[in-house]
Amino acid sequence: MTKSQILPPEKKEDIKFENNLRPSFIRDFIGQKKKVENLKTYIKGAIHRKEPLDHVLFHGPPGLGKTTLATIIAGEMGVQIKQTSGPVLDKKGDVTALLTELEPYDILFIDEIHRLKTSLEEIFYKAMEDFQVDVIIGEGIGAKNISISISPFTLIGATTRTGLLSSPLRDRFGILIHLDFYSHKELIEVVLRSANILNIKIDAEAADQIAQRSRGTPRIANKLLKRVRDFAQVKGEGIIDLLITESSFDALEVDEMGFDEIDRKILLTIIEKFSGGPVGLSTISTSVQEEKETIQDVYEPFLVQQGYLNITPRGRMATEKALKHFDIHKSKEQKSLF
Ligand code: ADP
Repeated sequence: MTKSQILPPEKKEDIKFENNLRPSFIRDFIGQKKKVENLKTYIKGAIHRKEPLDHVLFHGPPGLGKTTLATIIAGEMGVQIKQTSGPVLDKKGDVTALLTELEPYDILFIDEIHRLKTSLEEIFYKAMEDFQVDVIIGEGIGAKNISISISPFTLIGATTRTGLLSSPLRDRFGILIHLDFYSHKELIEVVLRSANILNIKIDAEAADQIAQRSRGTPRIANKLLKRVRDFAQVKGEGIIDLLITESSFDALEVDEMGFDEIDRKILLTIIEKFSGGPVGLSTISTSVQEEKETIQDVYEPFLVQQGYLNITPRGRMATEKALKHFDIHKSKEQKSLF
């Protein structure tokens, strides 16, 4: 099952665009240096021993390169990759079929693995540890449960939050890699590399600005590049320069920190409606009309990493930096809260 089979048609164009820009080799993968170096060592070791790579779990916010690294590992190991995702896997029979069809050393990539049904997790325990699956032969009282061997394979899981994975499943991954947000310099490299692939003319200042507003995330850098290209083609000379970039961001309502409407709503809700917090996630979710999971997975990690938001046991709190960003001055009561 490929990723495109499991997504609605409107997502297909995005996937095609992403696949065009997805680095295929480790040498083209920008950033995450130490982690990538370690990964190279594990890959070399597995190839040397003629064994499948140990099971890998990638975790980190969306768009940081989890799927990309899974496909790169397959390329470097010279094996096939089968892609699926946790919520798509429904029946035991589907999972058994998927596992029995794997060729030796293949990679099975499961995106959003934290959303795998508990009833299906158990199949993976045995498959990951012993390369075996249980199948039922026959029907009624004569039915027998037998274990059959499957090809040695590597399971690569991707998750936005490891905390949501059951510990028996998490413990079966030998390699755990957390992907961090990218630096400004790395994002400039991403923008320039993508512009080169897409044959877009862009100057250094414009690339710098796009990187600045990409929330530490290559997927966002690529999306912004694509949008600014539209403005450059329709309203400019086709070349992306600083002027067209800044006017595109004004039109897109993406501010100098890369915050979009939802980021602003989240912070302003906490500051204006709840005096800076603490306020619970459910309340914020209702107030900004965005799913709790999306707020947690997509928005909060960057706001926390950049020091705009604190997650405390009593709830979410906006920081001084958030107040300054919106040029809001604290009242006396608020002063005692921060
Ligand atoms: P995730 O699986 O973590 O959500 P993806 O692997 O799908 O993220 O990456 C999203 C897009 O960002 C890819 O299409 C790829 O073009 C780009 N990308 C991600 N990481 C990198 C990187 N390190 N170097 C260059 N491009 C990257």
